[in-house]
Amino acid sequence: MSIKSLQDLMVDELRDMYHAENQLVKALPKMVEAASTPALKEAFGRHLKQTENQVNRIETIFDQLGGDPKGKRCKGMEGIISEGAEVLDEEAPGSVIDAALIAAAQRVEHYEIAAYGCIRSHANLLGLGDVARLVEESLEEEEAADQLLSELAETEVNTMALEGAERNERQG
Ligand code: FE
Ligand code: FE
Ligand code: ZN
Repeated sequence: MSIKSLQDLMVDELRDMYHAENQLVKALPKMVEAASTPALKEAFGRHLKQTENQVNRIETIFDQLGGDPKGKRCKGMEGIISEGAEVLDEEAPGSVIDAALIAAAQRVEHYEIAAYGCIRSHANLLGLGDVARLVEESLEEEEAADQLLSELAETEVNTMALEGAERNERQG
């Protein structure tokens, strides 16, 4: 890959995100499995569907621009996912595992928000409004996912983790 222009850079960033999103399509089912708080399981499940759609959006962009979305390895996402998986080998209470899953997932969302924000801005500068709009849709989903994770952490998961609760079934 040789980058000689802002458009080359934007295409390279989109290929990076194509690999990042595909890695997440594989990782999210494991996070659904590992989570014990029902609302967190649901949130990961819903974000899996969105992530599949985000992969499709990048394919749509490459249909418009020409070229292949494959061909780049996102080492950043590889690193975030493999660090996030470390806690799954621990004997921690379910609530602490959930707190760790949220912390890992928010690292993922922030990486994606940064990447899509840059790509959108580059697309706008290049006069590629259709690309910018598609990227904006994914960006909004990542921001909403990040906010939901903060809410789940602050309203139920972290206080349970503080008490070392095994599961989230104590209310009522
Ligand atoms: Fe995503
Ligand atoms: Fe990357
Ligand atoms: Zn995401």
